[in-house]
Amino acid sequence: MSKTERKLLIDSLEKKGISDPNVLKAMRKVEREKFVPLLMRVNAYRDIALPIGYEQTISQPFTVAIMTQALKVKEGEKILEIGTGSGYQAAILVEMGARVYSIERHHDIFRNAQKLFDKLSIRVSTKCGDGTIGWSENAPFDGIIVTAGSPEIPESLKNQLAMGGRLVIPVGGKRTQTLKVVTRLSENKYDIESIPEFAFVPLIGREAWDKE
Ligand code: SAH
Repeated sequence: MSKTERKLLIDSLEKKGISDPNVLKAMRKVEREKFVPLLMRVNAYRDIALPIGYEQTISQPFTVAIMTQALKVKEGEKILEIGTGSGYQAAILVEMGARVYSIERHHDIFRNAQKLFDKLSIRVSTKCGDGTIGWSENAPFDGIIVTAGSPEIPESLKNQLAMGGRLVIPVGGKRTQTLKVVTRLSENKYDIESIPEFAFVPLIGREAWDKE
């Protein structure tokens, strides 16, 4: 049942323009229903964000797909995720063969994700803390994906990119953001592309929004 639903959802993402075969393959494999609360499971294969508690959400599948596609992940690459949330995005990256590091600021969400990774035997290096300052001990990263909206691009994250590395981050106001894809061309040179109109929960931390 959920397998058919998942196939239909991923087929619909393909129709909406997701073309990277590795992203589609990983999303066909990872069971999104395992990352959403029990009560929400009937909606796991609708293309919508769902609440995971503590005012946070698991991102919409289309958003996960477009961000992952923009990240251009290759097998064996070291990827940092900011905002572990449900753990779904991290699971997709692991499925694609990435070595994944993920930071979550909210302690209970962090603990739940940690438990789920253990239960499903998904290998992710996790940390509870402010991801806006990155994870310098493990830098540089081939890719950094930020799954919460920021008022600007945190300098620390740009600095922790490997040469040729990509940072995918929603930037804008608290309600809507533009997806920025930053590529590090050399020590001090970055190329920035924009994909318009997304809505993420706020990134809260030293180099982003203040806690309200
Ligand atoms: N990638 C997640 C989406 C989670 S929503 C998934 O696949 O489900 C965004 C998450 O970012 C929330 O859990 C929120 O608590 C977290 N967050 C917000 N600001 C953060 C920060 N500065 N550092 C780390 N996590 C942060």
